[in-house]
Amino acid sequence: MEVSITMSQTLLERAALVVEEAWPYLEHSKETRERLAHAAASLTVSLPVRMDDGSLSIFAAYRVRYNTARGPSKGGIRFHPDVSLDDVQALAFWMTFKCALLDLPFGGGKGGICVDASKLSPMELERLSRRYVDAIADFIGPNLDIPAPDVYTDARIMGWMADQYGIIHRQFTPAVITGKPLAMGGSHGRVDATANGAFHVVERVLKGRKKKREKTTVAIQGFGHAARPLAQRLFQSGYCVVALGDSKGGVYAAHGLDVPSLRKLKEEGVAVIEAASRSEKGAKVRTITNEELLALEVDVLIPAALEDQITEQNVDDVRAKYIFEVANGPISQSVNARLVDAGVRVVPDLLVNAGGVVVSHFEWVQNRTGQCWSEQKVAKKLERQMVEASDLVTACAKDKGISLRTAAYVLALERLEAAISAHGTHTFFEGG
Ligand code: GLU
Repeated sequence: MEVSITMSQTLLERAALVVEEAWPYLEHSKETRERLAHAAASLTVSLPVRMDDGSLSIFAAYRVRYNTARGPSKGGIRFHPDVSLDDVQALAFWMTFKCALLDLPFGGGKGGICVDASKLSPMELERLSRRYVDAIADFIGPNLDIPAPDVYTDARIMGWMADQYGIIHRQFTPAVITGKPLAMGGSHGRVDATANGAFHVVERVLKGRKKKREKTTVAIQGFGHAARPLAQRLFQSGYCVVALGDSKGGVYAAHGLDVPSLRKLKEEGVAVIEAASRSEKGAKVRTITNEELLALEVDVLIPAALEDQITEQNVDDVRAKYIFEVANGPISQSVNARLVDAGVRVVPDLLVNAGGVVVSHFEWVQNRTGQCWSEQKVAKKLERQMVEASDLVTACAKDKGISLRTAAYVLALERLEAAISAHGTHTFFEGG
């Protein structure tokens, strides 16, 4: 189906166009369509925070519950200087579909604070995180909306937030936030869950190809919380990781990079280019730009940074055979079809990066039942859920002759349609 897109449209408007492509492939009601076109609730707050030097800074912040038909809304909180309400709504919209695709009993939500966290001291960051929870405390809850980490937030921040929620409600309430430190009700396997989930999808989708892992070249854009453990696991499993990059630029080595040393240095705060010059001494490592990384002729390209990385400007340069979207929305909606038509197998974010929220669900279940599952149990259950979802998406795409992305949306929409109509009334008016 042809859909027309302009870059002046908001991220949410562009995200919604993908759903338009999926509707023709399932029976649905007009009312479900209308319901899913709007965020259920959006909260904008400003957070006054005392800085270490005594001055006051005000930060804009948001929390959105996009849809709660399948359960409490679920989704991370991102700290980023460019975050806007529109972005948060689009991200919450994606979470709605991601949770439905993985059959989790959750709706979709998301939060964000407009901040460059790298410019704050640890004390300022803690005050900001606690202030955010003060402002949104009535908007979230274990049965209402459950935050988690996202871009530039982590377990330490989730710990402060869960603690603050406990202070406000005068009781320990671990199930209100997932991705917490293990010591305060976090789950084993949550930190690397997105990476491990993506790894299972890569393995499942590539299964059956003749090319050996050692000959399968991989380029990864981004070297953050998700990309680092993913690069490491691919490397350890024998894949040839030829390129890696962070916001400062990337590195390329035709014979493969020494991922463990790069990871170690990056975790000590060293940027990828500098890390490679220290760890790969003497080896043939070339410095590349972000644009060059996305245009490499590799088997597998993994955008694991931010939205809109492959756009009208660079889509024709892409030469990868497979793209696994670890970031949310890294391929602009307007160019997705062009990649698919050119024969690139694009495996969508909805599926590829769902490991994080899958283990968040495990954490929520453990918190609510007072259990603590072993690392092995979490790993096994994650693998099973990711493999099942991959197979469902692949089969649906094959069966209906549609792209993997449209198939993921069709499956998610079927479940959302069922939940929305189970909540009542509209079928009477639509004669369903
Ligand atoms: N921020 C992650 C995502 O976009 C995880 C969300 C969660 O665990 O709730 O999927």
